[in-house]
Amino acid sequence: MARLDLQGLAKRYGDFHAVRDVSLSIEDGEFLVLLGPSGCGKTTLLRIIAGLETADRGQVLLDGQDASDTHVREREVGFVFQHYALFRHMTVFENVAFGLRVRPRATRPSNEAIRVRVTELLKLVQLEALGQRYPHQISGGQRQRVAIARALINDPEFLILDEPVAGLDPKARHEFKQLIHLLRDRGKTMLISSHILSELGEMCDSLLFMDRG
Ligand code: ADP
Ligand code: MG
Repeated sequence: MARLDLQGLAKRYGDFHAVRDVSLSIEDGEFLVLLGPSGCGKTTLLRIIAGLETADRGQVLLDGQDASDTHVREREVGFVFQHYALFRHMTVFENVAFGLRVRPRATRPSNEAIRVRVTELLKLVQLEALGQRYPHQISGGQRQRVAIARALINDPEFLILDEPVAGLDPKARHEFKQLIHLLRDRGKTMLISSHILSELGEMCDSLLFMDRG
């Protein structure tokens, strides 16, 4: 299950209101696109949902439970950053494996189980041949797919992607859309931000417009 409720979220940076009183509900399995001009507060809102940023006011409820005291790692929210934020000194394989390797010993899978899981994800994002490359040795679209695989490693029900289409050429965009279709078929709840109305607008269940917070 991954139902999400936001209640009266607000965030200020000094005197600047980045997020103003945002309330909304996202159903389990829903695919929502968050549309708004650059600087309107999209990234801030997404970071609050993922637990990477704290709100000044309001609540994030995951499956009805207040998530504010739940650590980022336990939220079961996968986050794909706008510029992917891959670990430069790690191979593609190790980037994807990271979320399992950092688990406490008690819940960390064996090396073999990690290998199986990472291989499965690399296959999903069509990068199984590139596991030993480093981020600078692959294309932008491929880097994004590594970031998506990395976000999926702990099998989150809820996936957030921040501005995923902005930096892609047409071919990479096409591959990205196919991957989104696939994740949708797997029942992932998804929230994707964009500053332009793209093809994602036709694929999603709901469009959310944001302006000045
Ligand atoms: P978007 O993702 O829609 O472009 P952001 O959420 O990144 O918008 O930013 C919203 C506003 O908040 C912007 O004007 C930005 O400059 C400001 N902002 C974001 N993060 C910070 C921060 N850490 N400190 C100060 N201002 C910030
Ligand atoms: Mg942003």
